[in-house]
Amino acid sequence: MKDLPPLREVIARHGLSASKALGQNFLLDGQLLARIARVPGDLDGARVYEVGPGPGGLTRALLDAGASVVAVERDRRCLPALEEINAASDGRLRVIEADALTIDEAAEAGRGAHIVANLPYNVGTALLVRWLGGEAWPPWWSSLTLMFQREVAERIVAKPNSSAYGRLAVLAQWRSEAKLAMKVHRSAFVPPPKVMSAVVHIVPGEQPDGVRAATLEKLTAAAFGQRRKMLRRSLQALPDALTALDTLGIDSERRAETLSVVEFVAIAREIDA
Ligand code: SAM
Repeated sequence: MKDLPPLREVIARHGLSASKALGQNFLLDGQLLARIARVPGDLDGARVYEVGPGPGGLTRALLDAGASVVAVERDRRCLPALEEINAASDGRLRVIEADALTIDEAAEAGRGAHIVANLPYNVGTALLVRWLGGEAWPPWWSSLTLMFQREVAERIVAKPNSSAYGRLAVLAQWRSEAKLAMKVHRSAFVPPPKVMSAVVHIVPGEQPDGVRAATLEKLTAAAFGQRRKMLRRSLQALPDALTALDTLGIDSERRAETLSVVEFVAIAREIDA
């Protein structure tokens, strides 16, 4: 990619003062951005769908890694800065001004794209649930590399018997592999957010046979909705789930957070049988 001016200069020249309403906390450190761009693996010749490029720090790193990028950004103030990046990358960047929560992303990005995003946390979690949910599997994307508030990242990769383990962990792990790729200090952002962050990397795996995503979702919602209660109480409204515990020999006096992802899947399969 051709040389571009430093991000701080771009931000000043285009008047991109960070908007709190849009959850803007920018990353400007080129080395850190290059490390994030390495999380999905070798991107040379790959397609990337980036959500929320802002002034384009991460976008530059993805293009430098050899990817072509489709980026969706809500803040039109960022578009001229992104256009400069497009010009410097021989047209490998296409920017769509839209809300990532409503766009037809698979049609825009195309099957097999890697998703990479440093998003406001509420938007990130809503998108994560959408990307990981639904009955269609394998999904249209080939990996997710997402920045989250560290506490949310820990919930995504949590193991049983921990307070972080819950619906998000089961959703992220029952047919995908989720790992915490790197921790990012709050001081890396401009302006710094109140909390620490982390990048999570998720790769889709095989969907276990005979289980519907909707059933697993209903089961974990009930089980973790009352996580301090024994399963025979929290699953009272799901008689099929109680029968499944019996059939599988899972003690109904256990609590949700002691069940492995495999056990949740086995219960959901019994319900769907
Ligand atoms: N990727 C840039 C970086 O790392 O420096 C910017 C990160 S900033 C945390 C989040 C970006 O997402 C902002 O540019 C914001 O305008 C954009 N954004 C917020 N909500 C969005 C939405 N619903 N759809 C698309 N972009 C959104």
